[in-house]
Amino acid sequence: MEIEIISQDNQELVFRIEGVEVSLVNALRRIVMVEVPTLAIEEVLFLKNEARIFDEALAHRLGMVPLTTDLEAITPRGECDCGDHCSRCSVSLTLKGKGPKTLYSGDLESSDPQVKPVLDTIPLVKLQKGEEVELEAIAQLGTGIEHAKWQPTTTCAYKNYPQITIDQDKCEACGLCAQQCPRGVYFFDEKENKIQVVDLENCSMCRTCSKDCPNQAITVEGLGDKFIFRIESDGSLPPWEILTTACDILFQKAEKILDYL
Ligand code: SF4
Ligand code: SF4
Ligand SMILES: [Zn+2]
Repeated sequence: MEIEIISQDNQELVFRIEGVEVSLVNALRRIVMVEVPTLAIEEVLFLKNEARIFDEALAHRLGMVPLTTDLEAITPRGECDCGDHCSRCSVSLTLKGKGPKTLYSGDLESSDPQVKPVLDTIPLVKLQKGEEVELEAIAQLGTGIEHAKWQPTTTCAYKNYPQITIDQDKCEACGLCAQQCPRGVYFFDEKENKIQVVDLENCSMCRTCSKDCPNQAITVEGLGDKFIFRIESDGSLPPWEILTTACDILFQKAEKILDYL
């Protein structure tokens, strides 16, 4: 198996993966989405809620706020021997305010400087004049299998690596494929009077070009053992850490199967 990075930053990682079966790539996708743990608010202790929103609705809203996560520093729920929550398995965040004002995710005060909302601008509750909210929220590690709030990605998808073949004997250089392609894959070189594939990896395999070609000169296929994989993080973990953690989980699963055998 070969992995080659196409692009990466703190939010998104795109790579080519080659020499693998689709089942393995799909297993990796599913692990990335629902088995890599992140932090999310799991319990909320309301000391005061005079806002026009039920406790449950505000607690749910708090749960959906992505939090920066340090997987090394926090013990997963269920692996901690405290039985409830403690400083090893939990991070406390407090929210307090009096209206008229809107409380945002940035108003959450964390007991751990490494754990904070990914964005400060998520509106949580609008307080009318004199209304007060005071609460303590407990964030814990969990996975997307339990609840979507623990999914570390906003997008995780792959596509077969595209392969475009132009039969030069049939092509009459009309340029129609370059006009019709919605992804800018082709360039029609008017000087050379020739069609060129200039951005192959951007092809979505919609096959518009091959259907519209008057001479049936284009064949679009997806390779069966090469893929383009995209991971977009919600900001809780860097995308490369999501990928390496998912690979570790996949490896552990494979080892378990070998042990059973
Ligand atoms: S549409 Fe067909 S004939 Fe026209 S340039 Fe493209 S490949 Fe050639
Ligand atoms: S299959 Fe679709 S995206 Fe790909 S080159 Fe043809 S028209 Fe463009
Ligand atoms: Zn604990």
